[in-house]
Formats: sequence, C-alpha cells, structure tokens
Amino acid sequence: MNWRDLMCGEVRPEHVGRRITLAGWADSRRDHGGLVFVDLRDRTGICQLVLNPERAPEAAAKAHAIRNEFVLRAEGEVVRRAPEAVNPNIPTGEVELQVDTLEVVSTSTPLPFQLDEEGVDETLRLRYRWLDLRRPKMQRLIGLRSTMVSAIRRTMEEGGFLEIETPILFKPTPEGARDFIVPSRLQPGRFFALPQSPQILKQLLVIAGFDRYFQIARCFRDEDLRADRVQEITQLDVEMAFPDQEFLFALMETMIQAVWRDCLGVELEAPFPRLTWAEADARYGSDKPDLRFGLELEDATEITRTSQFGVFAGAPCVRFIRVPQAFSRAELERLEEVAKEWGAKGLAYLVWDEEGEVRSPIAKFLSEEEIAHFRCEPGYSVLFAADEPKMVSRVLGALRLHLGRELGLIDEGAWKWAWITDFPMFEWSEDDERWAAVHHPFTRPAPGFEETFDKDPAAALAHAYDLVGNGQELGGGSFRIHEASIQARVFSLLELSPEEQRAKFGFLLDALAMGAPPHGGIAFGVDRMMMVLAKEPNLRDVIAFPKNQAGVDPMSGAPSDVEEEQLRELGIQLRPEARQESGPTGR
Ligand code: ASP
Repeated sequence: MNWRDLMCGEVRPEHVGRRITLAGWADSRRDHGGLVFVDLRDRTGICQLVLNPERAPEAAAKAHAIRNEFVLRAEGEVVRRAPEAVNPNIPTGEVELQVDTLEVVSTSTPLPFQLDEEGVDETLRLRYRWLDLRRPKMQRLIGLRSTMVSAIRRTMEEGGFLEIETPILFKPTPEGARDFIVPSRLQPGRFFALPQSPQILKQLLVIAGFDRYFQIARCFRDEDLRADRVQEITQLDVEMAFPDQEFLFALMETMIQAVWRDCLGVELEAPFPRLTWAEADARYGSDKPDLRFGLELEDATEITRTSQFGVFAGAPCVRFIRVPQAFSRAELERLEEVAKEWGAKGLAYLVWDEEGEVRSPIAKFLSEEEIAHFRCEPGYSVLFAADEPKMVSRVLGALRLHLGRELGLIDEGAWKWAWITDFPMFEWSEDDERWAAVHHPFTRPAPGFEETFDKDPAAALAHAYDLVGNGQELGGGSFRIHEASIQARVFSLLELSPEEQRAKFGFLLDALAMGAPPHGGIAFGVDRMMMVLAKEPNLRDVIAFPKNQAGVDPMSGAPSDVEEEQLRELGIQLRPEARQESGPTGR
C-alpha cells in the first residue's frame, strides 16, 4: 500500500491539480459547520486538509470524530487556496488538499498536554516524551543533532580517522566524577564501572597501532544534575599517535565549521583565536571566557600595595572591572549580593557620576595616584575584588558575566571561539588535602616541566587545551604521557601507592612500557555543542530521552527495583535503609 506521495511540509503550488496521498498526525481540527479543516503534520511541517461534505460526504462525516494526534491518511487533489485564505507563515500556506477519501489509521486517548502548550511541567513532558518529541521545536532539535553527528563523522573520516567502539562495561576511568557501577553475576562481588570517558581505551588503541581513532562515545558520570548537566553524555572522542597540535586544532576547527555550515548555514572564520589559561584568567576571570563582549578585568595589586584602604593593601590580589553605567546604591547592593554568592566578603566600588565626580565610601582612603588609575569617563562604575587570586577571578569572572547579560552587552548573534592552552597541571584539593590533576592524570607536562612537575606541582603547566564557544567549554584534551616512568611519577604525586597503581592502572603502565608512541587527543561534548549551536538553555531538550534533574526517567520509571532473586544471583543484599532512601521514581 502507498501510505503517502509527499511529506506534509512539501506540498507546494507546483503540485496544484495533482492527486496525492498524505499521511500524518492531526495537529488541529476546525469545524466550520459544513467544512472541516484539519492541519495534518509530520516531521517536515503541516498541510491543510479540507473536508467538504458536498464533495466527499463520507470523508467529511469521519472528520467530525477526529481529535488531536489521531493518525490519518488522506487522498485528494491539491488546490490553490483562495487569496484571503493564504497563510504566509508556513511554506505550504498557498495550497491545501481537497480530500476525497479519509482513513483514520490510529486514534489517540485524550492528551496529557497539548503540543502547542507553553510551559508544560518538565516531568510531564518527559513522562510522555513520545508526545513531547512530536513538537516542532523538538523535531528540529533532534534533527539538527543528527545533522551535527553526521558532519562530525564526515570530517573525521576525511581526516583519516577510524571509528572504533570501546566497551561500556569497564573499569573506573578518572575524569573527576563518581562512577556508575554494575555488578557482575559471573564474578559475584565484583563490579564493572561505566566509562566516564574512553580515555584509557583510546590511548590503548593508538598504542595498538590505530594511529587515528575517533568515536561518538557515550560517557557516564554520576554527578549532581543541573540545567546544563546530565549523567549520560555523548562525546566526540579523538586520539592520534605522533600528535601535532596545529594539525589537531585545525582539524577540530574544520569539524566545527562543517557542523555550523550543515546545521545553520553559517560560515565560521578560522583559525580560532588562542589564549593561554593565564591570559584568560587575567582578562576574563575564567577558563571559559565569553568573548562576545568586553568588560575585561584589570589588575590593581601593585598600585594598592601601600593603599590607605586596608582591604586593598592587605589582599594578595586586587583587580577590578570598569562598567559603563553609574550604578545607584540599590543596584550596587544587588551586585554585592551577586559577588557574595561567589564567595566575596563585600564589594568595593567607585562610581563616576555624570558630572565626572567620584561617589564612593572608599574614595577618601585612596591616594591621588590610585584615583587617577581608576578614573573613568562620566557614567562609569569601577567594581573591585580583593582576595586570594583564585577568589578574585571567581568573583570578577561571575560579575562580568552577570553584567554582560544584565546590561545587554552580549552580542547574541555572534559566534566567538577560543582555544585555551597551557593549563596548570595540578590543583590543590582543600577537601582531600592533596594534589589533583586539572585535566586527568594521563596528561603530559608541558615541554620544560617533565623534570620538575612533581617537585613544584603548583608551577607545572600541562600540555592541555580546551575549546570554548560563546563562553561554554565544548571540547578539551591534551597530549598524553607515553613514558611509564613519568606516568608512575604522576600517580605518585596524586598519592596512589605502587600497589594501587598496579591494581587500577597496571594494564596502562604495561602498555606504556611496550612501545607506546607519543599521542594526544581531545573530546567534544555533543550535547553541549548542540546547546550552544541551537541556543538552547536546557541540555535535556537536545537529548531524545534524558533523565530528569533527579536522575530518573519519568517515562519508564528507571531506575527501578529488581527482584530479590536477581540480587541473590549477584550476591547483593540491600541495606534496609536503601529502599527508603530512594525516593519516588518520579512517575
Ligand atoms: N577524556 C577527556 C574528557 O573526556 C578528553 C581527552 O583528554 O581527550 O574530557
């Protein structure tokens, strides 16, 4: 049987006079006494069906019973709409189908929400995801995602990379999140971990001679969820032997260009600008700076060393931003709240009013030299942060972003990219009281730090880089350690005992000792890239079947209880409180 000759969104004036069959969902029905109009919808759009009792009495009679989301098949003649009935807002708006035969292929129970309803509760949307996904916005996003993945694959294949799958049941791979673990029935009491990334496996693949690898890989990270975080992410994972940073950056730029061209028809300019981590931190207070606006940070540490204002003189670091607005006291109070949320103790400021006079409780403590340093045109405010350098970056970086949005300084139409290079290799973890790898423990020290990284970890730079797009970290990677001895030194610095090193990473150390070529790579978050590309603030809206913010799938109810028998086979006994702890399943 022929279900359809055209897609609903494809019918055009050139088809006028043709007899065609369409199939799709009833998007809406309008009963005009005699005539019934039905908008028939599929992935490509909508075509208006007209059911005229004089032309097709049987079909028109059936049409009265049609409800939204019934599946219909309609056969008839494409006609031109009367001029006053033309709908210029849709591509099929000049034509309609005069139906001769109508078949109700499938009916629908009453809907939990209408497809054109705004602001439907997210749990309800996720519970009835098959309906939610029928909405044009979701059809567009999921379609764009397919286009994106296909552009990625094409670029990688053209670059000579092989797509190789790696196991989902594996061992912990340290990317800094908690592992999901899976009990083994055949080895009771033992557990697999779902990979947080295929990091070690991709290194083993290039060590194995597959010198250019990629994969559209699923990664699992048991993190607390926010609007821009999910536990199951998809990433473009890349690794190459004998790596060349210029080649890798250029290939990734080509990939991003292909994605933006295919998905949006936008031509991006390459190469993308580069900033060292130190520069990004100094100028933007962030390692993922949004370059769509200015408002750069400036330093005042030197000039305030002898300040009469004790807060400045006593702080290890003083920096500020000049904001093109003379804030009122109430506005400054609100900004102080924002600064405090990010850890500041207060917010010192100078306001240059329209007369060019300075307004500030701290002005009287500042020397002429200081005032001259902070002088602005009339109608500006200077906002300060004085603290440890890390805190100063955090507070001013956050204020910068906040003000960029509040004052409408962000060029919303722009695509601004930046490679961030020369990251620190380690950071001190206050909670664990030990050093932690900033990227991951397989990242090599930047040239020149091979000897010293474990003697002076705070000063060591890593051969690591990120790609930032419109202020979002989209990709990150590094050159890897290919010498077993350096790898063991990094593990030791991270306080892994020789026994732990063997137990956790013995196979990697063995592989590194058997002819490992220099190698390096990168990974891009596909979901995150979709958010940026589609300007979609909710990460879950670019994923067909995401979990909700509680890590639950409201549609299937997963995660769910398992039979006692299954637990017995696995050698697992639940602690009595475990069942009570797990709340409702979200359904
Ligand atoms: N494995 C890293 C990540 O998932 C990427 C890389 O170093 O290639 O972030």
